[in-house]
Amino acid sequence: MQALELLVTGAVQGVGFRPFVYRLAHEMGLGGAVWNEPRGVRLRVVGPERAIENFCWRVKHDAPVPARVDALQLLEARPAVAPEPFRIVESQDEGARTAVIMADLATCPACRAELFDPANRRHRYPFINCTHCGPRYSIVTALPYDRPHTTMRGFALCPACRAEYEDPSDRRFHAQPNACPACGPQLAWWDDEGRVEAVREAALQAAVQALRDGRIVAVKGIGGFHLVCDASNPRAVETLRVRKHREEKPFAVMVPDDTAARALARISDLELELLRASAAPIVLLPRREGAALADEVAPGNPNLGLLLPYAPLHHLLLHDFGRPLVATSGNRSDEPLCTDEREALQRLRGLADAFLVHNRPIARPLDDSIVRVLAGKPCILRRARGYTPLPIPLSFEAPPLLALGAHLKNTIALASGRSIVVSQHIGDLDALEARDAFERAVDDVQALRQLQPAGWVTDRHPDYASSLYARDRGLAAVTVQHHHAHVASCMAEHGLERTVLGVAWDGTGLGDDRTIWGGEFLVAGFGSCQRVGTISGFHLPGGDGAMRKPLSSAVGLLQAFFPEAMPRLAVELLGLEEGAVRQLMALITRRANAPYTTSVGRWFDGLSALCGLCRASTFEGQAAMALEWAATPHRERAAYPFEIRRADDLLVADLRATLVRVIEDLRSGVEAGAVAASFHHTLAEVVVGMAERQRGLPVVLTGGCFQNQLLLERCVLRLRETGHTPYWHQLVPPNDGGISLGQAAVAAYLQQGTAG
Ligand code: ZN
Ligand code: ZN
Ligand code: FE
Repeated sequence: MQALELLVTGAVQGVGFRPFVYRLAHEMGLGGAVWNEPRGVRLRVVGPERAIENFCWRVKHDAPVPARVDALQLLEARPAVAPEPFRIVESQDEGARTAVIMADLATCPACRAELFDPANRRHRYPFINCTHCGPRYSIVTALPYDRPHTTMRGFALCPACRAEYEDPSDRRFHAQPNACPACGPQLAWWDDEGRVEAVREAALQAAVQALRDGRIVAVKGIGGFHLVCDASNPRAVETLRVRKHREEKPFAVMVPDDTAARALARISDLELELLRASAAPIVLLPRREGAALADEVAPGNPNLGLLLPYAPLHHLLLHDFGRPLVATSGNRSDEPLCTDEREALQRLRGLADAFLVHNRPIARPLDDSIVRVLAGKPCILRRARGYTPLPIPLSFEAPPLLALGAHLKNTIALASGRSIVVSQHIGDLDALEARDAFERAVDDVQALRQLQPAGWVTDRHPDYASSLYARDRGLAAVTVQHHHAHVASCMAEHGLERTVLGVAWDGTGLGDDRTIWGGEFLVAGFGSCQRVGTISGFHLPGGDGAMRKPLSSAVGLLQAFFPEAMPRLAVELLGLEEGAVRQLMALITRRANAPYTTSVGRWFDGLSALCGLCRASTFEGQAAMALEWAATPHRERAAYPFEIRRADDLLVADLRATLVRVIEDLRSGVEAGAVAASFHHTLAEVVVGMAERQRGLPVVLTGGCFQNQLLLERCVLRLRETGHTPYWHQLVPPNDGGISLGQAAVAAYLQQGTAG
């Protein structure tokens, strides 16, 4: 007889792991105990040596999804005196709070069946859940994950729910959000002044009726509010656009089921798997011709963002309504997501006609995640509900470090031990409300882990709100160059440790030479970064203010490469007035508010304007998207010429010859899409050309430009054809949402082993 004490780490809390261990021990006739602790799950197992060995193997390998065991660590082994029955005991509260917190899980099939079963006591109860599904990160307020440490603490379990909660053979054993109509949260229907007009089932019916009437309803869900309306009603969708001040950026659509999804979009097996996954993200899909949706949902967009119902409330709404619903984040443009119903009443005033709310508090805002399949693999473009806060493993030991991320699409990341936890998408930090949300997220992650960071990390850009946060508080922060962080983020998620050739292409990031980088080739590891190549740059008239003005990029490009033909060339190609061109040219020649940039994002903007595809954009990335969409049907087009030359110690991909051919083609009436395709293919050849000069290094494709399917897939294809090994993002976004992970990885690498 032997007694072992073990620590199990991984995704083991809030996933039915203890009942699994309990059943296993009883089945194998072993004694002992299992309990939650702040680092994970602890177990004591008593029995014959061989049986214990077998038991440990099965604990490690047989845990049912969504549980995942990362490690089984032996804490103590001693001879046992007497056998004891196996029990599940009280959680223990002491020690480091390093347990993996589960992400929120979409309603499981068993709960869905009960939801629509008239004989079940939870028939049509909008908060049904079990150990395999339901809210997790959106309700946890402290560790270990137990009911008093969730926003369910205010709801006392009724006798029936308590019996389930305490019965190890029940699938609701220790399901922390367990609830029923007798004891749990309830719905309410409010008018736009917050007056209660209906509750429970009647509230749901009122919402369905309002949606049928073409009204806009704010619906409180798992991680925050959605603004919801009938996706087939052009008037309703248009009204939502006007009220939200969102001119063209597409809205996500929640569909009742797979069949409804297939009617709207062409869906591969992998994409279907993503839609149905317990993370239930918005999946970007190619839209079907003639899809029965209002055009206003995604104007001029060949793709659609679809998602399936993931909370029981959504299942009921979609079931009763019977048609797709627009489900966009409940916020004003540029503001963070609303989570509290009283706050929503203020912040969503004038946006929503009425409110469908409930009284289960949301611990922190979690937007819907967005995923797109790129080069045959899922790529998370916005990482929040369903994925956060699952950790990304590190191959070395890091001291506790908090990385504060970029300015746009901000996330923060906490490194500690052998993993990094990246926060949910927080958003662009321009608006005051967004900066408040950022500060709350910084406080939240420290409070939850009860951890004081030993170090802070920021972007090297001194004026980012995230950098200012650290400076204002006198925090001595390590700074990481923006594009180095991009490369490191992709290395970290792939566990790459040796030197790579990083291709970091994005819209904007401050370079070490104080110019705006964004078309960079970096020979980098976590601990080092050398810029070895770039794209030929230009002066961008209007600076930061020109980021959303593709015409300014186009004028900047023409002025850089064909100054002798200006302003005539810009008048001819861009249809601008000569006076307007001269004004922009004056900014450039006076070097006034016309920073030098090597940004590929700005090249895309300029090309988009030259091709007449997008001359004024209303959201970031719009011009580049227009170029991608136009190019997609022309995959057979050849690349344009270009030249890689050496300038000092840097290789420069000179795109002058490319631009000459672009102009020739446009003048001779070649279709804009064909020109756009050739331009994409040229950029892929530039990547191959640079990779040839760094043979032997893995090639890491990162930065917002690699959200572009055509560009990414062409680069991957051509790199493989030429014998290189490309890597690209799957777990964190290629855009600035991944910056915090890269910052944390770089700083952790430099400070590894210094943990106290
Ligand atoms: Zn369930
Ligand atoms: Zn109950
Ligand atoms: Fe970036």
